[in-house]
Amino acid sequence: MSKPVLLVVDDDPQVLAAVRRDLRSKYREGYTVVGASSGQEALTTIRELKSRGNSLAMVISDQRMPGMLGTELLTESRDVYPLARRVLLTAYSDIDAAVRAINEAHLDHYLSKPWDPPEERLFPVVDDLLDDWQAEYLPEAKGLRLVGHQWSPRSHAVKDFLAGNVIPYHWLDIERDPKAAALLESAGVDVAELPALFFEDGSVLRDPEPREVAERLGRSLSAALEVYDMVIVGAGPAGLAAAVYGGSEGLRTLLLDQHGPGGQAGTSSRIENYLGFPAGVSGSELTRRALTQAQRLGAEFLAPLKVTGVSIDAGYKRLALADGREIVTRALLAATGMAYREHPASGVAEHAGAGVYYGSAMTEAPAFRGRRVLIIGGGNSAGQGAMYLARYADEVQIVVRRGGLQETMSQYLIDQIDKTENIRLRTLTELEGVLGEERVERVILKSVDDGSCWEEEADAIFIFIGTRPWGGWLPPAVLRDEKGFVLTGRDLMAAEGYARVWKESREPLPLETGIPGIFAAGDVRAGAMNRVASAVGEGSMVVRLVHEYLALT
Ligand SMILES: Cc1cc2nc3c(=O)[nH]c(=O)nc-3n(C[C@H](O)[C@H](O)[C@H](O)COP(=O)(O)OP(=O)(O)OC[C@H]3O[C@@H](n4cnc5c(N)ncnc54)[C@H](O)[C@@H]3O)c2cc1C
Repeated sequence: MSKPVLLVVDDDPQVLAAVRRDLRSKYREGYTVVGASSGQEALTTIRELKSRGNSLAMVISDQRMPGMLGTELLTESRDVYPLARRVLLTAYSDIDAAVRAINEAHLDHYLSKPWDPPEERLFPVVDDLLDDWQAEYLPEAKGLRLVGHQWSPRSHAVKDFLAGNVIPYHWLDIERDPKAAALLESAGVDVAELPALFFEDGSVLRDPEPREVAERLGRSLSAALEVYDMVIVGAGPAGLAAAVYGGSEGLRTLLLDQHGPGGQAGTSSRIENYLGFPAGVSGSELTRRALTQAQRLGAEFLAPLKVTGVSIDAGYKRLALADGREIVTRALLAATGMAYREHPASGVAEHAGAGVYYGSAMTEAPAFRGRRVLIIGGGNSAGQGAMYLARYADEVQIVVRRGGLQETMSQYLIDQIDKTENIRLRTLTELEGVLGEERVERVILKSVDDGSCWEEEADAIFIFIGTRPWGGWLPPAVLRDEKGFVLTGRDLMAAEGYARVWKESREPLPLETGIPGIFAAGDVRAGAMNRVASAVGEGSMVVRLVHEYLALT
């Protein structure tokens, strides 16, 4: 198979030649470097590459070109190659314009001219972007292939597991993709056994549980040690940060998740406010980087493993797993975050996974190309979901009970939504019911003003409201507030049951719960800020507190 392509576009022949030369000097082993001297020529090249079945890894384009601006070219290239990384080449004096272009055209990066020396100013950026591209890209004939029905909750569960664990796969809808039937026939798989997951070596798992998929992919689900210094339950941003610091500071650290790494942040299509990523970063990219970093620094990671309970045995914490096994640790971090609660409207439960999705915009969006979808909720997560779905669906409606988005959504997202033609905001409206035979076909909406109800057609509903903390697995002595969020440090000392549960001569450490040596960080904690950065901050600081606790025992 031919090598993936790096396309460089500049109307200045000298600059074009220099960038091509630099890129070739470093990347010619793995990539073909192709040049174009205008936006039009580049678009023709891109379409030719597509028709020949080539892969395009990156487009680096100058901004100021006659006929077509770099940003226009990069925006159009996304329609043909959605995964290709897109970089704008600008003069130093144009950096403001480049930052604006990043916001408006959702580019991956900008490079300023001149980029000498390339070892410092060109290659690190290109390396990073190519790494990200490699992680998402899957050649057509390679990798995992999942065949199933679009409206099957079982198919959705496997897709969700693969996407959540940053495992690339090809989805083949049995009703829409002719290759799906051929694949089933060749492997002797019956339609009744779907979803079916095909591996590169020709083997197949029929209607698998996530755990079977993990085992088949060679993931260990058994802890390596008898006793850990710190076990972290929940691999969202808080847990991942704690694993990075725990590993780097020499603690025997184990990170567990019932699903995969990333938590809520892992489902985000674009996190724009996390420090150090001026062009934003997708949740899956941030997760992949963080997990690699934690493992490189010595933390162990196991998923899917659900923790169902904790008991205390002479200061040691014994974690009960859903599969009946046990893990023992000296200190424990609850970083289990929050999850969406089931929406109470009629018909929602019956259609879960069959057109009703909680979050999941990233996993399911491509299946709704040309269709009409509803987003329920007006927070930042709903805004990001709407922007991502708008790339595929014909029409995206955001349904909110309030009169607008100002109080619940960041301005940058409101601005993006305003500029997106196929997103419509439905204020003072709520979801009353979901209708359809085997899948969502219609919704019942209700006016908050006068209580009147009406039916509308819809192909899917993505729910982004109603969160609750994942704290049910913790013992009662881990005190919680009235909504179930875990109390720590000073909040714990102010709580009604404090004197009943806390019997130490010392005060609880910050982030320590009602049981000595059990800490909480991130969204599961009462008073959390519900941001990626604050969860990362708490997860990082908890490791120093764990050291303090271990020194006391
Ligand atoms: C779609 C979306 C977009 C967002 N965008 C932004 C943004 O742009 N900027 C921003 O700052 N914030 C954003 N947020 C908020 C941010 O993602 C959260 O504040 C952050 O993820 C909280 O991190 P956490 O580690 O505390 O918990 P979570 O991310 O909730 O992770 C908790 C983890 O614990 C696991 N778990 C739970 N119970 C168990 C158990 N019993 N056993 C094992 N594992 C368990 C869960 O599977 C999960 O992986 C967004 C949230 C969503 C949903």
